[in-house]
Amino acid sequence: MFKVSRELFGYCILVLASVGLASCNNLSSPVFGSQTHDSLGNKVDESVLLRPRLHDKWDSLRRNLIVFTVDSLNPVSIKVQKQKLKDSLRREYDKMPKHIYLTFDDGPLVGSKAIDSLAKSKNIKVNAFVVGRHATFGKYRQRDLAQFLENPLVAVYNHSYTHGFNRLTTFYRDSQVAFDDFKKNESTITMSSKVARLPGRNIWMYDDERKIDVANATPTADLLYKDGYKIFGWDVEWRIVSQTGVPTLPLETVYNRLVNFMNNKSSKEPNNVVFLMHDDMFQTKAGAKLLNDLVDKLIAQGYRFEFMEDYPIRY
Ligand SMILES: [Zn+2]
Repeated sequence: MFKVSRELFGYCILVLASVGLASCNNLSSPVFGSQTHDSLGNKVDESVLLRPRLHDKWDSLRRNLIVFTVDSLNPVSIKVQKQKLKDSLRREYDKMPKHIYLTFDDGPLVGSKAIDSLAKSKNIKVNAFVVGRHATFGKYRQRDLAQFLENPLVAVYNHSYTHGFNRLTTFYRDSQVAFDDFKKNESTITMSSKVARLPGRNIWMYDDERKIDVANATPTADLLYKDGYKIFGWDVEWRIVSQTGVPTLPLETVYNRLVNFMNNKSSKEPNNVVFLMHDDMFQTKAGAKLLNDLVDKLIAQGYRFEFMEDYPIRY
């Protein structure tokens, strides 16, 4: 009984929650370039860079808050009433904008250029979780990172400097060393905001939310969180074989997963989906075309493309 009431309370809180607006916190000491979302290039449509605002329709929704009373003497009906509440909330959420966060990990790599071009050609916001060491792999990787930093449609975030040289169990064994690796990345690249993703770990720490998949990275995440970082994992992932451009999941399947997640009644952050991809997926024309086609479908669906520092956009 108590459990049900708590859940219901949670849903009511969802209704009452207001939009969270995160600020842009530029860091100093740029080496590879500088970036600000406020300074617009000639080709960018300014309207897409407007920060999320409280949706007009929500004012009327707030005025007509869904009133829900629990009949504690009749526990059978609680389940029915709870379902009705969920359904009515989902109907309200369906009237509101839906937000997708395209996130690309491990750049700059071969394939980063396609992501930069996509953001410009579709005029959508994207998120790059970068690994500073990869920018030392030659002038083209330096160019790729510089393009990210110069493009106001690309938010650049911290994915560590070395990616633990892909030996992640060792990397997370000493949390101070791992934390210092993130700080090295931060001091090397002018990030858009203090937002991080841990290599190989689907860990979330933001506001009062905390979700851990593999415990050995928790001390590292805690240090970053205490340092002021928001840490984000992902909801849905897509992989494409980098050399061939062949996806491990057909486009239709991953598209349906995104739509289903967006419409999930019990989603922790309704109407918000974080989508994980990797830069090296788009080094072939076939891979880049798949990404283009998927984005076209999402645009047709009316989704809004957002920066991670604004997650979650609530109503
Ligand atoms: Zn990674």
